[in-house]
Amino acid sequence: MKVEVDQDLCISCGACIDTCPEVFDWNEDEKAYAKVDEVPPEVEDDCREALEGCPTEAIKEV
Ligand code: SF4
Repeated sequence: MKVEVDQDLCISCGACIDTCPEVFDWNEDEKAYAKVDEVPPEVEDDCREALEGCPTEAIKEV
């Protein structure tokens, strides 16, 4: 599983980073980004929860 954050849609709410800090982090523009190329299998469920919980649907599986 790979994910990316659409920087134009992210409103910097921080929900994805709270839900899955293994995958999401802040970048220098204070938006979320996926810091891993491949989501580790053990955090896939958390990552999907973050994806589904994003209020602006900025997180996409790629
Ligand atoms: S949950 Fe969505 S809007 Fe909120 S910080 Fe993450 S990517 Fe941005």
